[in-house]
Amino acid sequence: IRQKIVAGNWKMNGSLESINVLLDGLLKMKDSNSEVVVAPSFPYLSAVSNKIAESNLVLAAQNVSQEEKGAYTGEVSTSMLSDFGVKYVLLGHSERRSLYAETNDLVATKVKTVLDSGLTPMLCIGETLSERESDKTLEVCTRQLQAVIDVIGIESFDKLVIAYEPVWAIGTGLSASSEQAQEVHQSIRAFLAAMSDTVSQRVQILYGGSVKASTSSALFAMPDVDGALVGGASLDAKEFLEIVKAAG
Ligand code: 13P
Repeated sequence: IRQKIVAGNWKMNGSLESINVLLDGLLKMKDSNSEVVVAPSFPYLSAVSNKIAESNLVLAAQNVSQEEKGAYTGEVSTSMLSDFGVKYVLLGHSERRSLYAETNDLVATKVKTVLDSGLTPMLCIGETLSERESDKTLEVCTRQLQAVIDVIGIESFDKLVIAYEPVWAIGTGLSASSEQAQEVHQSIRAFLAAMSDTVSQRVQILYGGSVKASTSSALFAMPDVDGALVGGASLDAKEFLEIVKAAG
């Protein structure tokens, strides 16, 4: 049985002050069977790491360099993230792909760097609206997955977490229905099962895209949905904790 993960991707939001308020709210969290993750921006990792040290909250970063160290101005390495107790690194988020030109190959290289460093990639994949409308959803998702499999091998594929985030649902308020999410998650698992049944059963697949408290119970009831990657709703402690509660 796969443990559920509820992760909050704070994106480029917050201030030291607002993050403290948010965390004070999150630290009131009741015991949960799910793993609850927060992903602040780089400058706040240290403060957040200290503040959640005695709690069950788990720390994620929103990005990382594919390089280990050296003359890469403005970049952050996996070992730096490890210094602050980071467990997960978001990779391949659609905003990175579309706004910062991260290709499938670059994302795959980053996944390898993160795995080699002992951290866990949260690999985001998903189709645009026009791709969905032309029935290319599965083709796009499997292409994004295959690029990573080509680099790390299928055997390592349960050492990461997949986040299915349809681009048309991100920040639009237009969430995929729980049935739409389940359909894609099931197809992703079937795609992986053709290469490794074990991996396909083990890998956790989160859904992301306008997840709210009000829709999360139906989402989490789906057999192939192993949690959520939450953007906007993760900036409100009460709303986020309701999502965590729905995950059980
Ligand atoms: P929203 O929940 O704001 O749609 O963002 C989803 C997302 O991109 C999480 O990574």
